[in-house]
Amino acid sequence: MAMGSERARDTVKRLQADITSGRWPINGRIPTEAELAAEFGVGRSTIREAVRSLAHLGMLEPAPGRGTFVRSLNPVRGVLSDFASTHSWRDILDVRRALEVQAADLAAQRRTPEGLAKLRAAHDADVSGDKATERGRTPGQFHALLVDLSGNALLADLYASLMSALREGMRRGALDNLQPAVERQEEHGALLAAIESGNSTLAAGLAASHACHDLRVLD
Ligand SMILES: [Zn+2]
Repeated sequence: MAMGSERARDTVKRLQADITSGRWPINGRIPTEAELAAEFGVGRSTIREAVRSLAHLGMLEPAPGRGTFVRSLNPVRGVLSDFASTHSWRDILDVRRALEVQAADLAAQRRTPEGLAKLRAAHDADVSGDKATERGRTPGQFHALLVDLSGNALLADLYASLMSALREGMRRGALDNLQPAVERQEEHGALLAAIESGNSTLAAGLAASHACHDLRVLD
């Protein structure tokens, strides 16, 4: 038993070191439980336990049926996410909206060709609904990439923490009047065009009117 828990701790440390070293990119998918079990030479249940611990720290996030994604290279987002979770979802959405508007404004000013290409590719994949790329796609990737394009790492960390608080709340059923909605791709297209053209006022306005359209309020 002691052997078992020691192995579990070692597995957590090793997996955490792999994440921190950037072995997989943020929002990238890690190998399957079976692949990691084979690589680390441990049982699948040990991998499952390690993934659960790192998910609790906000570093990983399992997306049912799609795999497990890297959300943060350090545990700080997990702490922020836990803190956000102590507030009402309405408060969380208000702050998330403010961050999205600011991110769109900054993204239009600070956009880079590489960042724009990633955002355009994510949008095109969403629009085409290509099943072949579906599994590799992260839920909410368009918005996460847009926030990255702001070039503000603190803003990106805060945004990711709020997203993870919302997703975790929905997964636990704690936000039972809040459900994911189908994204309005034409609004993403308009927002993307405004950012590409460097029109920060228009981008901020479009982000403000689009905010929260990824969620449905059932009350
Ligand atoms: Zn959206």
